[in-house]
Amino acid sequence: MQPLIRPTEARQRIDAHLPAIPTITCPLDKCAGRVLREAITADRPLPPFNRAMMDGYALRSADIGSVEAFTVTVQAPAGTAAQTIGAQPGNCAEIMTGAVVPCDADCVVPYEVTDKDPDGRIRLRTPSEHRAGNCIHYLGSDHAAGTVLLPANVRLGRRELAIAATCGHAELQVTKIPAVSIISTGDELVDVAATPAAHQIRRSNDLSIETALTNAQLHAKERIHLPDDAAISKQRLALLIQANTFLIISGGISMGQKDYIPGTLDELGLRNHFHGVKQKPGKPFGFWSNDHCAVFTLPGNPLSALTALHHYVIPAIQTAMGAPAARSMHRVQLTEPAKARDDITVFMPIQLMENNQARPHPAQNSGDQASILATDGYIELPPTPQQVYPAGSAFQFHPWL
Ligand code: AMP
Ligand code: MG
Repeated sequence: MQPLIRPTEARQRIDAHLPAIPTITCPLDKCAGRVLREAITADRPLPPFNRAMMDGYALRSADIGSVEAFTVTVQAPAGTAAQTIGAQPGNCAEIMTGAVVPCDADCVVPYEVTDKDPDGRIRLRTPSEHRAGNCIHYLGSDHAAGTVLLPANVRLGRRELAIAATCGHAELQVTKIPAVSIISTGDELVDVAATPAAHQIRRSNDLSIETALTNAQLHAKERIHLPDDAAISKQRLALLIQANTFLIISGGISMGQKDYIPGTLDELGLRNHFHGVKQKPGKPFGFWSNDHCAVFTLPGNPLSALTALHHYVIPAIQTAMGAPAARSMHRVQLTEPAKARDDITVFMPIQLMENNQARPHPAQNSGDQASILATDGYIELPPTPQQVYPAGSAFQFHPWL
């Protein structure tokens, strides 16, 4: 392994060597969860006409004091072009929510505050309460045409898709979904359905990584298991590097006799940017890349793998896709002292308590994944000469996905 680097340096080196991901044109109804790569502007004023906001009657406010009752001269349902009520004082339109207010009317009075005479004429119960502009949503009063409603580089959720639809985008420019594959290595690993021999364990990292990716709106193409075999690893990895934009490898990356992955990546011509970070858990974490593929190497220990995935891998894929995850603004305060180190960063699992309090749950070892079941996420404890952070110290909270 090379000289260890700090977590911030690791993040910078990753960000500086992420593969470019193309922008594609995608039908709007296939865009949910994708990253938008163009700004969406209002193609017309919003609303695009003076819109009635209630079902009732559209009339001239100036007539209210001077006529006793109003006469319906026109029906104005939603979806009909602009009409007029006519110049005669006391004329009105029967209007529906979403319809164009007649151009010679300036006030909409809801049914609920009117009465209908037997001859069909309309009386206002409290005439003095209705004024010009009431219940009218005026043309352009929300947004002028040309206003940027959605900036580029946002994730397209239901609210964003509704804006794109309103502005007439049947297709959008979005980031192509990158091919991501998850690789677990280890001769000791067997399938979840298998009965492990005494020297074997069931594979779990790949499923945990895939689930965290899904929860981050990312997509894993496949999960692959490689034996601890240099020749097979080289052959399989060569093809996987060609076929993927990101590889997430867990296990086989440390100093063991059968940890073939780092050497294999070097032999396959990938450039190593670091291998080893001043952190616990996850010291052997590393990063390799070529022009079109980035390879993250995570330690096999489940807690190490999960922490590196959250702290580096998922944010990196999101950044490459053009929508960096907003760093959480959620800060928490320690309920009790947390043990830190004077030489390396400690990622400490924590349980959220009331009032943004956080209880540290130091893991006894990074293989015990059941130890984090009670925790909600982790905090990053930078090295400190005191080797402890006192109760009350505040840190940014990183939730488990
Ligand atoms: P390694 O990084 O390959 O030395 O593995 C470190 C530890 O993590 C070993 O005890 C492995 O058995 C365990 N491990 C590796 N990969 C997985 C996996 N996919 N699921 C569960 N445990 C794993
Ligand atoms: Mg191994």
